[in-house]
Amino acid sequence: MFYLIVPSRPEAHIFTVTCRISDPDKQGQIVSLPCWIPGSYMIREFAKNIIQLRAKADDRELWVSRLDKSSWKIEPFSGEIELIYDVYAWDLSVRSAHLDTDHAYFNGTSVFLKVHGKEDEACLVDLQRPKGVKYRDWKVATSMPRQDAQRYGFGLYRADNYDDLIDHPVEMAEFTPHCFDMHGIAHSMVFTGKQSADLERICRDLKPICEEHVALFGELPDSDPYLFMTMVVGDGYGGLEHKASTSLICSRDDLPVPGKQELSDGYLGFLGLCSHEYFHRWNVKRIKPAVFSPYDLSREAYTRQLWAFEGITSYYDDLSLVRSGTISAQRYLDLVAKTITRVMRGSGRLKQSVADSSFDAWTKFYRQDENAPNAIVSYYTKGSLIALALDLSLRLLTHGAKSLDDLMRRLWWDYGKALQGVAEGEIELLVSEIAGQDMSDFFTRFLYGTEDLPLAELFESVGVKMILRPAESSKDNGGSNSKKSITELLKRADWGARVSDSQGEVRVVTVFEHGAAQQAGLSAGDVLVAIDGLKVTPSGLDSFFSRAYVGQSIEVHAFRRDELRVFQVTLQSPPLDTCDLLLQEGGDDTVVARRNAWLTSVRPSG
Ligand code: ZN
Repeated sequence: MFYLIVPSRPEAHIFTVTCRISDPDKQGQIVSLPCWIPGSYMIREFAKNIIQLRAKADDRELWVSRLDKSSWKIEPFSGEIELIYDVYAWDLSVRSAHLDTDHAYFNGTSVFLKVHGKEDEACLVDLQRPKGVKYRDWKVATSMPRQDAQRYGFGLYRADNYDDLIDHPVEMAEFTPHCFDMHGIAHSMVFTGKQSADLERICRDLKPICEEHVALFGELPDSDPYLFMTMVVGDGYGGLEHKASTSLICSRDDLPVPGKQELSDGYLGFLGLCSHEYFHRWNVKRIKPAVFSPYDLSREAYTRQLWAFEGITSYYDDLSLVRSGTISAQRYLDLVAKTITRVMRGSGRLKQSVADSSFDAWTKFYRQDENAPNAIVSYYTKGSLIALALDLSLRLLTHGAKSLDDLMRRLWWDYGKALQGVAEGEIELLVSEIAGQDMSDFFTRFLYGTEDLPLAELFESVGVKMILRPAESSKDNGGSNSKKSITELLKRADWGARVSDSQGEVRVVTVFEHGAAQQAGLSAGDVLVAIDGLKVTPSGLDSFFSRAYVGQSIEVHAFRRDELRVFQVTLQSPPLDTCDLLLQEGGDDTVVARRNAWLTSVRPSG
């Protein structure tokens, strides 16, 4: 298989792709584009961005007919045929493709047609530079192996088969690569977009975190070089995992600047994101649900196991920050406290199980509406708390002999390395085996059921005190170790809604179930005008609530669409939905030893 791709009209966001098929199906070659991209569980119908697909042979146009939203059939022909098509690329995310005069980015799922019947054939890919002096300094970043190209150069690349072809996203732009070495394998970092970050520091900081993952699994998954590709934007956050690379998007202000050594919350978030995607090298790229082995990208692939692939990964992404010595134990606990707060703030957790959240990811988690906090739970956040609870439970039950690390090694050896998909329910059985006792009750209650995890008592077993209290302000997301007493915080009146400040408008974004705002009839989307006759501003709202009292009745003027409405809201006492975790100094030796075993590096030298 041969593909040629060129950012032919960057100003119009158009890639032009040529796909050459030397021996097409004589009954008429069928080609298609995936409906979704592995790692992002939503039907995206990438074929919608294909413009004008033409087929040619011997300088003659062949007839092309549509079969469905993602597939085409070419007129029967014996002999080489060429498909030529444009792809519109204007989605600035890690999941599809984006092209302008500053850079070109694409995932294979957005641009490379699958040639049916030839999915297993090796592919050659010619990556071409756009025409014009403006682009003469562009380079290429991709984990796709080079066939005939300089390092970071345009030219010929290769992939083993179609699945491999679509697992190497490509970035073309001006950039200076930075590298670090791990166990003799090159790890490169490429940042594109406007930035002036301390890139060498990022490499230095990231290496011990990645080493923690290697030490946990006992080895690198393979000897291929690895690439972190980051698009730097004004405001963005996200990542997508691949076998030999990851695509990331981050906010400019989150990156560290030269000459400063502080570890800001934003930078810690970026390191956590890199850590997350690197952990996926094992967990989901190689250890994967049976239903993903192989992927059927033409329709939804349902699994109840995303808690393990995203939740466990989310647990270890932050745990490796403390294990590697990047942050202190207390700062790690503050991160966990924020996750607990996020889970506690949605009553959806009492209605949807994490297993169902995984199953319904396609229509619910990935397509959240304003009612999501009242209706669903996240398999990332509650999934990571299930992983945490399992880790602490295993350590308790086996007197420190076993932990979640043992589960991950077992999954790596018996499934990841053995190329064996993990069947539904199999992880639960492995946990019971490692615990030396039946753990099905745990999964029935917390994974398949909607009970809150017994975190307070588990934290006690490692000398950590868990506190659930009301928020201090609308900006308090937990993990802030409030000095105020719960009695004092309970006096702060609450109205059960969240607002956003966009273009000077204060807009209601979430109305919590059974909260005062909902009872009064306010809805998401309403634009607040005045409270008790005074204009509403975002900062004014917070100070209003800090002075208001429980039981007070307020008059709220708000626009719903273009209609002015008046609501009488009776303020309530605030919910205990904000978490602090406090490290208890001292304590008995068993507790301290258990905590150290949990938070200390698993690297041989650590
Ligand atoms: Zn993930």
